[in-house]
Amino acid sequence: MPFPRLIIRSPKANQLMALVTVILLLLSVSAFHFFKSSEPAVSEIDYTRLRAPDEIAAAASLSVDGELLTVTLKNGLLVQAVVTNEAAQQEIVSSFAKNNIPVKFRSLRPSIMETVMSMALPLLTLLALGLVGWRVFASMGGQGDFKLTDGSGGQTVTFDDVAGVDEAKNELAETIDFLRDPERFGRLGGRAPRGILLSGSPGTGKTLLARAAANEAGVPFLAVSGSNFQEKFAGLGAARVRRLFARARKLSPCVIFIDEIDALGRRRGRSGDSASADQDQTLNQLLIEMDGFEQLSGIVIIASTNRPDILDQALTRPGRFDREIAVNLADVRGREQILAVHAQRLKLESGLDLGWIARGTPGFSGADLANLLNEATIAATRDNSEAVARHHVEYARDKILMGAERRGFMMDNDERYATAVHEAGHVAVGLDVRNGDPVHKVSILPRGRALGVTQSLPERDRLMKKREYLEDQIAMLLGGRAAEQLLLDTMTAGASNDIERAVEIARRMVAEFGMSPLGPIHLGKPEDPHSQALLDRIEQATNVIINEQMKRACEMVDARRAEIARLVDELMERDTLDADEILHCFNLKRSLQAA
Ligand code: ADP
Ligand code: ZN
Repeated sequence: MPFPRLIIRSPKANQLMALVTVILLLLSVSAFHFFKSSEPAVSEIDYTRLRAPDEIAAAASLSVDGELLTVTLKNGLLVQAVVTNEAAQQEIVSSFAKNNIPVKFRSLRPSIMETVMSMALPLLTLLALGLVGWRVFASMGGQGDFKLTDGSGGQTVTFDDVAGVDEAKNELAETIDFLRDPERFGRLGGRAPRGILLSGSPGTGKTLLARAAANEAGVPFLAVSGSNFQEKFAGLGAARVRRLFARARKLSPCVIFIDEIDALGRRRGRSGDSASADQDQTLNQLLIEMDGFEQLSGIVIIASTNRPDILDQALTRPGRFDREIAVNLADVRGREQILAVHAQRLKLESGLDLGWIARGTPGFSGADLANLLNEATIAATRDNSEAVARHHVEYARDKILMGAERRGFMMDNDERYATAVHEAGHVAVGLDVRNGDPVHKVSILPRGRALGVTQSLPERDRLMKKREYLEDQIAMLLGGRAAEQLLLDTMTAGASNDIERAVEIARRMVAEFGMSPLGPIHLGKPEDPHSQALLDRIEQATNVIINEQMKRACEMVDARRAEIARLVDELMERDTLDADEILHCFNLKRSLQAA
């Protein structure tokens, strides 16, 4: 089954800098205190008392440090007197010496440690301050802020390079006309588009579209990411917005592209903390700049997001991002076109049909498809093939869907057996249900974080998910656990991800799709207030669905014990089985399964 894709962000360099700065500051401050406080408490004494016999009797030692005389008393306390007159000092020293009290003369010069510290401290502090200043300066200076791509130079992207999103292209055509000649557009009475919001899942080609639009119009393309405006120093985000628009006004006509605008365009006033207050300020600045556009300034802002629902409503008001273009996942024809764009540069085996790849990759985004061909090419290069062949594409698809194989990670035989039984449970249920996606492959080679995988692929793009389909999916997800219980008489923690996903589907059936005895309810957003009684009832209805499907999965596994045992044997032998081999174990013919 497909894998959740992880997005890992590397810690930003400037966060590291800030950390180093803080540590340096802390170090110098604490070092300073350490050296200050290492001297014990001292009390002052005057010259006459220092000469008194009982004072001398109580003394353990005397140390002379220039004009400063320090007496260490037998009880450990220190007393000090400043004696400037040399003769008087001499007198004291000799009276102490006469009473057999050790006298030490200390050098006037400070110790090496003291010298080093007294020189290093200001230096360290300066350095730390310098670092902070440099960071602030660097984030204010225009470098590395936003990327400017000239409409002509660099690697150009045209509308021909963006496939499968014809509707979005049509919608952008008017914008391109405007950018080509803003004044003529105005004379003809067109209303200048100002902001366009491209919404859709990641990798569907939103950035590509914006870049191509700028290029088709022959104007500069200023690209910036919404997350660039999240600043550690209050007010810098807003300043950055001002600079971006100042730059755009100079370049106009031009396209400003703001990727992931949700990072700065979330609803304002969510919480009182300073980070969100600063974000509000940044967003306000963006709104001000957009309102300040002259009608024909020739600047078009294109923003992209996969969460249009969380944007501040002020952003989508008329005159701002008032045109939303949905960029959807391509259908099978669109996928074939996208593959064709990316296959241009590649050498494919003559028998390799792009339509076949497109049919086998429902749900893949444009970026996924580009990645698929890339991985396939790498595989072909690795085994010195002349051209990319079918099995390279299959290998690449498995890798993308299920994660890379972890060769060299050895499971012992018990673990392999348990994994084989678990996966065989998924397969048995997958073959039995009527409305699920056909089982395509099963493997007990560890991939990614999973020990084994059962892969099922939809035979077509599913635009509508029926209740029966969802129930079958839940049963399939629970099939692994069912087999563990019935055939191994145990349970493994490996089923936790299956269970999590099954419960998630069941909960959505209840709370979003109205597919439970609770009727058509919709819970709305998680942050909205909900009555606990309703939440409890949703939880109960979810449980009912899960238990029903678990029972069904157990019945299916129970009825197929012999076939499952065959499949487990084959898996232990060969690690991975494809659709035909699986059907063979179950005495089924391909015709029984949707091809
Ligand atoms: P988004 O901005 O929607 O997250 P991108 O435009 O950054 O997606 O797409 C990433 C890459 O995926 C592109 O550089 C391109 O190689 C490929 N790609 C995505 N969508 C398409 C498409 N519709 N046609 C061709 N290539 C695409
Ligand atoms: Zn499983």
